[in-house]
Amino acid sequence: MKPTTIALISSAIVATFGIGYLVYFDQKRRTDPNFKKQLKRERKKASKAAKVSQEKELVTVEALVKNVLEIINKENFPETPEAKEAYFMEQVSMGETLCGQGEAYYEQSVEPFYKALRVYPAPLELIMLYQKTLPEKVFRIVVNIMALEQQKRQAEFYNHFPPPELGVKFQELPVESDKPVRGLTATKDFAVEDVLYTETPFIAALHPQLETTHCNYCMRVLDEENKVECSNCDQVEFCSTQCEQAGSQNYHVFMCTNNKLEPSTVATEFSNYTKATNLKYPQMIAQFLSIMVADEAKKNQDSVMVADEAKKNKDSEKASTYTAWDHIERFNAGKELVPTEESAHEIKLIKALLASKVPGIDEFLSDDIYLLLKSKLNKNSYEVPTNEDILIEKSNEPTRVLYTEKQGLGSAIYKISSYIVPSELEEANVSISYDKTNVITVTAIKDIQSGQQIKAFYQ
Ligand SMILES: [Zn+2]
Ligand SMILES: [Zn+2]
Repeated sequence: MKPTTIALISSAIVATFGIGYLVYFDQKRRTDPNFKKQLKRERKKASKAAKVSQEKELVTVEALVKNVLEIINKENFPETPEAKEAYFMEQVSMGETLCGQGEAYYEQSVEPFYKALRVYPAPLELIMLYQKTLPEKVFRIVVNIMALEQQKRQAEFYNHFPPPELGVKFQELPVESDKPVRGLTATKDFAVEDVLYTETPFIAALHPQLETTHCNYCMRVLDEENKVECSNCDQVEFCSTQCEQAGSQNYHVFMCTNNKLEPSTVATEFSNYTKATNLKYPQMIAQFLSIMVADEAKKNQDSVMVADEAKKNKDSEKASTYTAWDHIERFNAGKELVPTEESAHEIKLIKALLASKVPGIDEFLSDDIYLLLKSKLNKNSYEVPTNEDILIEKSNEPTRVLYTEKQGLGSAIYKISSYIVPSELEEANVSISYDKTNVITVTAIKDIQSGQQIKAFYQ
């Protein structure tokens, strides 16, 4: 065992625990494409190594992995940052002691090293340290356990979301190029005219040129008497105090130009850019990143409350542990995009905009991540339709269009409805309708039997 692990890790702890416990970051790291590549490489390495090793060793390693997973399942991990830190140090030094006793103890050291990884706020950083400092065999097993747990977690997602009581679930579709890989299927019968569900958007952006006439949050047309302006800027308005609060908390607080008080140059620059280009996806990406942070704050609050009620409702607790990133990750991918001058400029604007509010944005928002988000938004966002005559420049960014004739109010992506696959009008069995806001109602236009795919007519 090289003596450096503890020293390296200690300084990393000061850095990470010091700036708060950012769980959303490890979600990201576990799901980020670069990290996946790395895991794949590790798995390849592991399988290569496994091939050359004795059958006997393979069996023991498998048994060891299974055993550690069972222990992890039963383990009560500490909750507070302080307790996590203490637990982490205890596990790492236990692992080091075992490794220090020689090769015969390597396998035993996997469990404490893996437990330490489970409570560490930035697992990828720790994995990199492990790679430098742990014996190769120990490292390989740790990485494999991590990959297995991630697979299990992803599989469980579909049991909890969409909530089973809705009567719809995500389903893998037969693989055809250019077609979505995942659709929505009924899990119970619906009669014609039954409302399947209503859904508020996951992320939505009003056309930048409609900022002063429509609610920034729900897109309803503003009523001069009752509208509510953001208290810090005169750039956005809301139809009600509820929308003002929801919009501010979820994203606007991160994007406000603040021009009534101390104007923010970066936010002004970003807002000017979206207005000049009439683009919605840069706003949606900035919103998404803000929601990741807001989510995290909410989750920390929730977990305090949930502690008492944990046994009451395990299922809803599980459903709420899925983050904005978990949802984005599962959306069908759009066309693969290549970096352009435009995308580089947008990334720069968003990094500047969120630098002080989203820790780690600089390393997180790589070209790959930005273009992945953009392509998913392009592929899965609906143009929110309207009956009003709206005179704005038509934006040419791709969206799903439900009704063709008119310019829409903005773009919105939905955690469930974005999985509804397109079909010809005759084939469609649901309609998607909007009631003057970006809230969707999905209604059966035919009888739908359990097991049938949900289809809507859109372009
Ligand atoms: Zn509103
Ligand atoms: Zn504002």
